[in-house]
Amino acid sequence: MSGKLVIGNWKMNGRLAANLALIESMLESPALQQARVAIAPPFAYLGQAATLLADSHIMLGAQDVSAFAADGAYTGEVSASMLADVGCRYVLVGHSERRQYFRESDAQLGQKLQAVVAAGLIPVYCVGETLAERESGAYREVVAAQLSVLSVLNGAECVVAYEPVWAIGTGKVASVAQIDEVHQYIRATLLQCHGGSDSICVLYGGSVKADNADAILALESVGGALVGGASLDVNSFGQICQAAKKTV
Ligand code: PEP
Repeated sequence: MSGKLVIGNWKMNGRLAANLALIESMLESPALQQARVAIAPPFAYLGQAATLLADSHIMLGAQDVSAFAADGAYTGEVSASMLADVGCRYVLVGHSERRQYFRESDAQLGQKLQAVVAAGLIPVYCVGETLAERESGAYREVVAAQLSVLSVLNGAECVVAYEPVWAIGTGKVASVAQIDEVHQYIRATLLQCHGGSDSICVLYGGSVKADNADAILALESVGGALVGGASLDVNSFGQICQAAKKTV
């Protein structure tokens, strides 16, 4: 596998038949061959995806995880060790849709991060400012506060995804200069606060599409892409993977 990491977040989309068709077309697509790529279907379809992806280079991720690490009476929850058991490698933690609709607190996110690492999986910790926070100029402080939760990991392996909330699912893309500025800031902050973390991969997410992937992924500060809408279309997702493969 070569190039930067691309993770497809399916969000709450998919059905057995549609997933089968999409995953089969991904497995056949030359654009995805050799790419460092993962998909994160809804919990209900992780088993199906794991079966279809067995023996392939496409990795599996989950979109969320319980903050409770041990099995027990937590109706409706899915633990990190269950995600490991079905073959996940990555787990999204703190996606802005979880923060917004489910009011996930920093304390819960810290527990989720720890549970993911304890299960031997890699958290993909999402940070990013709202439009109001961007316009107020406070976006760096917002991102720094979100990053501070990572201290619970004590340097364990982690991926960070910078996703400006105003660019997610809106078709609005942050400019290459805006992306580079925040990615540089995140990398510097991680290095300062989580010593030795210069190697942390920082993905960009927010309306990444076939037509902007080249410019975004060419940035040295960008370690890959977290892709929502475009990950449901094999041609678009393939072109993003193609852009990622050209990079190192
Ligand atoms: C996401 O879900 O993380 C995301 C970036 O979505 P989209 O690509 O649709 O903006």
